[in-house]
Amino acid sequence: MNMDIAVIRGDGIGPEVVNEAMKVLDAVCAKYGHTINYEHILMGGCSIDAYGDPLTDEAVAIAKSKDAVLLGSIGGNTQTSPWYKLPPNKRPEAGLLKIRKELGLFANLRPAYLYPELKDACPLKSEVAERGFDMMMMRELTGGLYFGERYTKEIDGVMTAVDTLTYNENEIRRIAIKGFDIAMKRRKKVTLIDKANVLDSSRLWRKVVEEVSKDYSEVEYDVMLVDNCAMQLVKDPAQFDVVLTENMFGDILSDEASMITGSIGMLSSASLNETKFGLYEPSGGSAPDIAGKNIANPIATILSAAMMLRYTFDLDKEADAIENAVKTVLKEGYRTGDIAKAGEATVKCDEMGTLIAQRV
Ligand code: NAD
Repeated sequence: MNMDIAVIRGDGIGPEVVNEAMKVLDAVCAKYGHTINYEHILMGGCSIDAYGDPLTDEAVAIAKSKDAVLLGSIGGNTQTSPWYKLPPNKRPEAGLLKIRKELGLFANLRPAYLYPELKDACPLKSEVAERGFDMMMMRELTGGLYFGERYTKEIDGVMTAVDTLTYNENEIRRIAIKGFDIAMKRRKKVTLIDKANVLDSSRLWRKVVEEVSKDYSEVEYDVMLVDNCAMQLVKDPAQFDVVLTENMFGDILSDEASMITGSIGMLSSASLNETKFGLYEPSGGSAPDIAGKNIANPIATILSAAMMLRYTFDLDKEADAIENAVKTVLKEGYRTGDIAKAGEATVKCDEMGTLIAQRV
């Protein structure tokens, strides 16, 4: 297969971790007979320095012309970097908001998987960590409370703030279809998280997702209230496969799910639109505190590249090869500083990339 990818190395540790993901992708291509054309574009602080703009329209046009975007991370130290003296719409993060909007990315995927080798970093009870977990948090990204009408005004002499939560059935249906499609590539279970005992929007989610579920007879489908889900993630995370939810619930629950894995440097993510197009990036930020030291953990970005192969290109075997290579290096005991126990030997960012590429 011939793949066309836009690459945004970004700021901080971004270039270091993206280089390692490209190294691993190249190893996959060599082994399985694929080619990848990479075109680099700037976004974030580096684009501000070059063009005075966190994301130019030219860069957006290039991204749109590709099959997928692989992103490192953007931004700098928010206290000290001159980028944060600029108006909000000129700061690095404005580039991220612009690219998500321009590419119509409405579905955010964050896998939360507990590697047996890293279970000591899991903050849950040991018997829960022992059972492990492997779930896909799927959050709606462009609707709901964060995008509704909002205002604050005095009503009858009392300051009153209003935020509105709106979803239409089309917004729900398109992410539900993605959720069930993804479940078909996994353990074939979808849990819809909502607050249908209170919210009208949740009741519409239930109705539409139930309808979509009828087209996926192989997928087990159930529903859970969001307050119960917050508890179940801590008590019994092994029960979940695809966890489908709206924007605000997903914002909170996906951070909770990340936290129970215990290691930010391992967490990949994807944002998808209606087509096979996706933007793939690590869940963490640009880590300015460790940038340029070659000590960042590249695994989150490498696993994001695996997600790209699986969800944009349907190359499941190749994605498995990357995920298994990561499992192998961890089993062999290799660790970057962020996932090493006190006193344990560590490898550098580029060594970790090479070790994984060799095991693909
Ligand atoms: P951060 O995720 O960059 O760092 C938090 C902590 O995690 C730091 O101690 C960092 O060293 C560590 N860390 C993160 N990724 C790591 C990795 N791969 N390997 C080892 N350690 C890792 O969060 P922050 O410090 O709050 O933000 C720093 C900058 O990143 C800010 O400018 C923020 O706006 C930006 N940011 C960007 C994105 C993005 O590009 N999507 C996401 C979040 C934050």
